[in-house]
Amino acid sequence: MNNRNNNGSPELSCEIFPPKKDGEFERVFEIIDRIAECKPAFISVTYGAGGSNAGKAIEISSYIQNQTGITALSHLTSVGFSASALREELKALKEHNITSILALRGDRPQAMSDEQFNSRDFEHASDMIRFLREEEQSVFQSSLTIAGGCYPECHPEAKSFEADLEALLTKQQAGCDMLISQLFFENDRFYSFLDAARAKGITLPVHAGIMPITSANQLGRTVTLSGTHVAKELLDLIDRFGDQPEEMKKAGVDFAVRQALDLKERGVDGIHVYAMNKPELCEALFNALRG
Ligand code: FAD
Repeated sequence: MNNRNNNGSPELSCEIFPPKKDGEFERVFEIIDRIAECKPAFISVTYGAGGSNAGKAIEISSYIQNQTGITALSHLTSVGFSASALREELKALKEHNITSILALRGDRPQAMSDEQFNSRDFEHASDMIRFLREEEQSVFQSSLTIAGGCYPECHPEAKSFEADLEALLTKQQAGCDMLISQLFFENDRFYSFLDAARAKGITLPVHAGIMPITSANQLGRTVTLSGTHVAKELLDLIDRFGDQPEEMKKAGVDFAVRQALDLKERGVDGIHVYAMNKPELCEALFNALRG
């Protein structure tokens, strides 16, 4: 994994998630095999805040790490963990040779009471990162690679863009090795964020998060969840192809490819594809970027 700044081509990686339905679980290993053929630098595996898919996430990360030879980056969300439970989770990761963690605070699960939420051991992701750095030698007897999240368009709860950058600097000082961004559709917003982060003293490699939009519904959900601005060009594509699934998919992938090529041209450290368990999206983007 590249946790130094890029001096050539961006490092390419992708995210997958443990399927919610049991019947889809077996298929995830076929999906991973196909993604592995694209030789990403790492595959990240999402985690349900509150631990709803904890066992599956470890099983999937383990398969990636131990069966495909690709580095697994396991997401962990601190909101569901006490310090002692997190220590146990680290031991489980160690048993599966997983030493790369995307350390996130996570969002409050619906079922979590005010009392539980307010008495959590780790208030921010940076608190969890500090803890991971303290524990790495005793649990792993080696260094972990620790990634953190960042938000080109500002985290929705942040008091201001400046406050969010300050929090990111704290993440770096806590021992984070690299950052992966929330998805975005307008590259200029990402470049402005990057300039501001560098001016603030954030020197960590930043991997740009790209999500190909392959259906009109997906865009609705994505934007509601992340508060991301949608490029007018993308909205126009939805207007034009929203009710033609095959055409929409082609146009959405083409938009993402052009976005990624521009990021490459600008020399970003990495491109992380939110592939939604669709290997063909990794294939399309990685082939275009390597071509
Ligand atoms: P933090 O870095 O703790 O930031 C949360 C808020 O607190 C921000 O507003 C920030 O400005 C503020 N803040 C942070 N530190 C400080 C500080 N020291 N002092 C004051 N304010 C501070 N969620 C999942 O549930 N599962 C996943 O697998 C998952 N994967 C993700 C992958 C990526 C790449 C990203 C970018 C997000 C992912 N998320 C995931 C979503 C994430 O959990 C939420 O966005 C969550 O609300 C914030 O997590 P964080 O780690 O960025 O939090």
